[in-house]
Amino acid sequence: MILKELISNVALLIASLFVYSQSTHAMPLSRSSTMKTKIFSGILAGILANVLMQYSMHFDTTIVDLRHIPVILVAYYGGPVPALASMFLVIIGRFFIGFNTSSMLALLLIVSITLFTLTITKLNMSKRKKIFLTLTSSNVIFTFMIVYLLENPGTLSFLIPSFWIISYMAGFISFYVIEFVRRSQNMLNKYKAEAATDGLTGLNNVRKFDESFNKIASQAIHNEEKLSLLYIDIDHFKKVNDTYGHKEGDQVLIELSRILKNTVRSFDIVSRNGGEEFTVILLDCPTDRAMEISERIRERVENHPFLLTTGQMIHITVSIGLACYNETTIQPKLLIKEADHALYDAKQTGRNKVCITSGREWVSHRA
Ligand code: GH3
Ligand code: MG
Ligand code: MG
Repeated sequence: MILKELISNVALLIASLFVYSQSTHAMPLSRSSTMKTKIFSGILAGILANVLMQYSMHFDTTIVDLRHIPVILVAYYGGPVPALASMFLVIIGRFFIGFNTSSMLALLLIVSITLFTLTITKLNMSKRKKIFLTLTSSNVIFTFMIVYLLENPGTLSFLIPSFWIISYMAGFISFYVIEFVRRSQNMLNKYKAEAATDGLTGLNNVRKFDESFNKIASQAIHNEEKLSLLYIDIDHFKKVNDTYGHKEGDQVLIELSRILKNTVRSFDIVSRNGGEEFTVILLDCPTDRAMEISERIRERVENHPFLLTTGQMIHITVSIGLACYNETTIQPKLLIKEADHALYDAKQTGRNKVCITSGREWVSHRA
C-alpha cells in the first residue's frame, strides 16, 4: 500500500519531535536562542528530514515524503539560521538519492517552502493561522511541482489529496506535540520554582535552603573555601503582629527580605527558613567579611523606616548568629547548628546584635 510510507513518515516525525522537545526543555529553540542551539537544531532537523526521505513513496523518478515538515518547524520556531541549515542538508541529501529534474525541482520546492515559512512567521496573525498558512502554502507549492513532474492523471488524483491530508495532519500533529511538550515543561518548571520559593517574600524556602546548603557545603570542602552562614531573626516580632496585625507583619517580612537581598552580594543565598527567621549563605567568605556584612544588615534594618499599609512607619531590629567554616566551625555540616546557637546567644544577651559561634560577641550597637 502506497500510503504506508507516508504514514511511516508521520510516525517517525512525531516520535523524533517528542524525544527532541523533551531533551531540549531547558532551552527550547526560539528566535533568541544562541547561534549554537540554532545551528544544532537546524542540523537535527536536516537529519530528520533525510531519514524521512528514506521512507518516501516512489513515483517514476520522483519521491514524495514529509521532509518539509522539520524544515518548517525549525523555520517557525528558530528563524532563518536553523531553517537554512536544515534546508541545505535536505538539498544535499536529495541529490545523494538522485540527480535529475525531480531533484532540481525538489531543491526549488524546499527553498520556496523555507522562504514562505520565514515570511509567514513574521506576519501579524495568530499562531494557528500562521501554522495553517505555512502548511497550505507548502502543499500548494508541492502540488505545482508534482503536477509538472507526473503526467499520469490517475496517480495525481490519488497522490495530491492524500498528500494534502497527510501533510496537514503531520504538520498540525507536529506543532501540537511541540506546543504540548513545551507547555508541560513550562508548567513543570513553574511548579519546581514554586516548590523552592517562599510564597510571601519570593526568597528561597527552607527546602531550597537545605538543598543549596548541602551542595555549597560539599563544594567548600572540595575547593578548600571558607563558607559563612548567618541566622537572622526579627526581635520581638510577635509585638509587631499584636500591635498592627498579621497583614502588616507580612508587609514587614516582605520589606526585610528586600533589605537582605540588597545588602548581601549578588551570589549570596538568602532564604526565609520559616516565620520571621532568615538565613544568608555567604560563599567564599571568611569570618571578618561575614561580620562586616552582618553588621551592615543589622544597621540597615535598625535605621530603615518600615512602611505599613496604613501609611505608618515603624522600626524593627534583628539579631544575627554567625558561623564560618573553617574558622569558627570545623565541619560545614555544623554551621547550621552553630549559627543557630550564636543567634540564641544574641537573643539572650540583649538582641539587635551580631554574635558569632562559641559565644564570642562581635559588635553590640544596641538601639
Ligand atoms: P524574639 O525576639 O525572641 O525572636 O521574639 P519574637 O516575638 O520575634 O519571637 P516569637 O518566636 O515569640 O514570635 C515569632 C512571631 O512571628 C510569632 C508569629 O506570629 C510571627 N510570625 C511567624 N510567621 C509569620 C508570618 O508569616 N507572618 C506574620 N505576620 N507573622 C509571622
Ligand atoms: Mg523573633
Ligand atoms: Mg523566631
